[in-house]
Amino acid sequence: MRWSSLGGEGADDGPGALFGTDVVTRTLDTPEFRGVTFHEVRAKSIVNRVPGASRMPFEWTVNPYRGCTHACVYCFARKTHSYLDLDTGLGFDSQIVVKVNAPEALRRELAAPRWRGEHIAMGTNVDCYQRAEGRYRLMPGIITALRDRANPFSILTKGTLILRDLELLREAAAVTDVGVSVSVGFLDRELWHTVEPGTPSPGRRLDAVRTLTGHGIACGVLMAPVIPFLGDSPEQLRATVRAVAASGATSVTPLALHLRPGAREWFTAWLARHHPHLVRRYETMYAGGSYAPKWYQRRIIRQVHEYAAEFGIGPAGPGEHRRVSGTRGSEAPEAEAAPPQAPPQAPPQATQLTLL
Ligand code: SF4
Repeated sequence: MRWSSLGGEGADDGPGALFGTDVVTRTLDTPEFRGVTFHEVRAKSIVNRVPGASRMPFEWTVNPYRGCTHACVYCFARKTHSYLDLDTGLGFDSQIVVKVNAPEALRRELAAPRWRGEHIAMGTNVDCYQRAEGRYRLMPGIITALRDRANPFSILTKGTLILRDLELLREAAAVTDVGVSVSVGFLDRELWHTVEPGTPSPGRRLDAVRTLTGHGIACGVLMAPVIPFLGDSPEQLRATVRAVAASGATSVTPLALHLRPGAREWFTAWLARHHPHLVRRYETMYAGGSYAPKWYQRRIIRQVHEYAAEFGIGPAGPGEHRRVSGTRGSEAPEAEAAPPQAPPQAPPQATQLTLL
């Protein structure tokens, strides 16, 4: 397979700039990966500059995969699959691009004289601890490269597979600034089954938070997405915050669902199948664009902060949102940052994240 004419990952990548031209395609028949196709590529570079970085809490990202078997219906990164002429629906969930040389490419780029040791965010486009990582094991080499250069980094994930690399994370945290954030938007198991079908359950994710913090790795929870009308009742929000606090998370940062082009169509089709009575309400809610109205976002943030105070857990502190939490979708050209929001009664740092 040749991929020479396909588009790159970031704004600076022209067609064909991201990968070499040779792609090895593998379709596995193991139960874990049935129906999944891997496209193994050699990335020309692995450290990406975030377009419009001034609006982001970080400037550099590393993403060893494209596409995500976690298959969240609302995933904003779906659109990025279209740059590879891949389907943004089921194709995003099952056609996974693997940058098999990511560790060696990173090691090379970190050693380059022009690299200044800046913070690198991971899990910003798709999940670096998705199931494919169990097979390809790219993250140990990536973390080792960062550890060896004492280069600060953060990871945002829904994947409990991160626990495999606990010791490496501890070693890195001993020499540099390491932040980990796990995304848990709700606890509802039926909602989880249908809207995040490839992910570990919210309970397992919170168990991972507990293990990470128990081993000295500070771990925040990005409470995202809060899904309107399905996961946003006061009882649901309170139960989620209570569970997050009980997990030992260092912070909880709420974020309402947003629906960018690519994700919006896929999510709307899902909504029509599972909750047809809500389609009209969503059309109204998101009539103004990709983001829920400000009043709604403020309401969610206010409520979560009230519950957080009740259960003794705070929002991400200054700088922590960069260190502990991340922003998905920042490196794709179309994935503009969320407009900064400044809801009253909410520390501003709680609103500077964009999404998972
Ligand atoms: S939201 Fe995150 S975990 Fe879910 S499919 Fe997208 S990248 Fe994967």
